[in-house]
Parts: sequence; structure tokens; C-alpha cells
Amino acid sequence: MTPIVLPTAPAAPLVDPFGRAISYLRVSVTDRCDFRCVYCMAEDMTFLPKRDLLTLEELDRLCSVFVGRGVRKLRITGGEPLVRRDIMSLFRSLSRHLGSGALDELTVTTNGSQLAKHAADLAASGVRRINVSLDTLDPDKFRRITRWGDLAQVVRGIDAAQAAGLRVKINAVALKGVNEDEIEDLLVWAHGRGMDLTLIEVMPLGEIQTHRADQFLPLSTVRARLVERYTLDELDERTGGPARYVRVAETGGTLGFITPLTHNFCESCNRVRVTCTGKLYMCLGQEDAADLRAPLRASEGNERLEQAIEEAIARKPKGHDFVIARGRSAPAVPRHMSVTGG
Ligand code: SAM
Repeated sequence: MTPIVLPTAPAAPLVDPFGRAISYLRVSVTDRCDFRCVYCMAEDMTFLPKRDLLTLEELDRLCSVFVGRGVRKLRITGGEPLVRRDIMSLFRSLSRHLGSGALDELTVTTNGSQLAKHAADLAASGVRRINVSLDTLDPDKFRRITRWGDLAQVVRGIDAAQAAGLRVKINAVALKGVNEDEIEDLLVWAHGRGMDLTLIEVMPLGEIQTHRADQFLPLSTVRARLVERYTLDELDERTGGPARYVRVAETGGTLGFITPLTHNFCESCNRVRVTCTGKLYMCLGQEDAADLRAPLRASEGNERLEQAIEEAIARKPKGHDFVIARGRSAPAVPRHMSVTGG
């Protein structure tokens, strides 16, 4: 593979019809995962045949084209990105864009199961911060939520990441009646270890054998409970996404709230997502997508690919239509989070 080397300033930045510049790309590198989190997947998920996936070289090319058009932050996700074979070669090769200054941040969202093996390589590839998903500190509950996961293995992964100098942010999905009594423990544990914590509301993505309304815990409720014991000072930090941050005065750590069901973030949305088969989703909560695999494979040059990306960005919708309603059995969006990439 001859990697594309990019000039520092983007050729023509990608700007959508609402004037939003696309500076953040999330790329799912596999739909497979070694966990089966109850809110994310059905236990008997069928995964894509390997031939449908973009190769690591194709993923590199795709990401590089986006970086050449103004993407400054790249998040590798999945499925579980660290279970994809030879995934470190993608990180190593993408790190050249950090070196050239074309990219500000290369990062990853992981369940942590493979981190002990990969943390040092991630750090060596220029990754500075990672997100680790962890919904409970109780080993039995952890097994029930993830169906297949081992909490001790994840904690060893987090230890390895911190030892390698990576900043770790813990992402926890707030689940009604499951971990709602543990939010404070998670907060104290994460902040005590120098990690930020972000809480996420369950999103109606994909069929999962359980009714979403049974899992949904509004973060307004969680916040109201925390405020009884902690001082939460609003931070100005904005990521262009659905997260809002506070500083917890008592712990000194940062706490994020991701409330994707509200619309208060769409107007500043700066992100798009690519699936492991090369489908570009302009909005996590909408079905419209553009196929980038065909133009990617049609020629060695990137003209068709760039054209397909431009046409897709021109259709980026103003916002999403998520709803979680009682009595509504179908998900608002039929594809699973593991397909689009979290
Ligand atoms: N395997 C990696 C991980 O566990 O972080 C990356 C992919 S995972 C799909 C990304 C994030 O999406 C995780 O934090 C997971 O908890 C979250 N997630 C999955 N399905 C979700 C849903 N329906 N609603 C809210 N968050 C979800």
C-alpha cells in the first residue's frame, strides 16, 4: 500500500447545507464484538460476511480522503474495534496524519477487553485519549449486561491503558433498574482514578429482544439525584455532539451527559459515520446513507469517492427523529449501534 500523504490545509472543507463543517469522522471497522450488551445486540446476532467489510487498506484510504477534506478528529469504533485482526496496522498508518498536522486527534471507543494487549501500541500510534465503555463495577451485573464479558479483564485493560499514558474516559449507559443505583459509585471510582465519566441515555437502535422503554432512564433524573449530594458546575466544553459536561466540585473530575433523544445538539453537529462496509451515515438517527465502497473500489484514484462524499454531505439532515415510546415495539432506527459505530 502506498499511503496517501496530505497537505496540511484541506483542499475544500466539507460543509453541509446548514453551514456545518464536517470535522469529525467515526469509523466502524467491524460489526463483530466479543460482548453482547443487552441494550446493543441480540444474543444470536448474525454478523456480516468478511468479504463485505472494507479492508484495512480501504479504511485507511477512506479516512485519509476525509482528513484531506477537513476532518480533524477520527474515532475508530465498531462492533469492538480491537477484535479486528491486525487493527494496529490501521492505527499505525493513520498516525502519519497526526505527524503531518492534518489531524488533531486519533482515538478509539472500546469495551476494554483487548486493551491490555493493545494499549502500548495505541499510545505509540499517537492515540492520547480513549473511551472505554463500562456500565457497572459489579462482576455479576457486568456479566448480565454484557452477557459474555469479564469485568476483571476490562479493569486490567484500563490499568494497562493508564500505565501506557492514555487518558481514559469511561462511558456508561444509564439503565433503568440495572445500574441506576450505582452511578455514584461509578463516578467516585472513575474520578478517583483520574478518569472522566460520561453517562449515555439508551438510544432506540436495532432490534434487541427487550423493550427499550424498560431500559430507558432519563439523565435528567440521574442528574437531579446527583445534585442532592454533589456540586455540578457547568462547563463550556462543547464537542459538536450530544454531550454536555460539568465539573464535580467534590471530586474535581468531569462528568458528561449524553442525551441523544433531545435535539439540543443537532444544530452544531460536526460529525458523520462510516460503517465497516463503507456506508456513510450523515446522522446517527436517520436512515439515509451513501455507499462509499463502490466508488472506493471502482478506481485507484479518489475522484469518484470524493464526489460520493460531497453528494452525501449535501444531504446531511438538520436533525434526527429519535423517540422511545411505550407501546412502540419497533426501534426508531432499525440498524444496531454496532453497525453504525458508537
Ligand atoms: N465495542 C465498543 C464499546 O463497547 O465501546 C465500541 C462500540 S459500542 C456500540 C459504542 C458505545 O455505544 C458503547 O458505549 C455502548 O455502550 C453504546 N451503545 C450501544 N448501543 C447503545 C444504545 N442502544 N443506546 C445507547 N448507547 C449504546
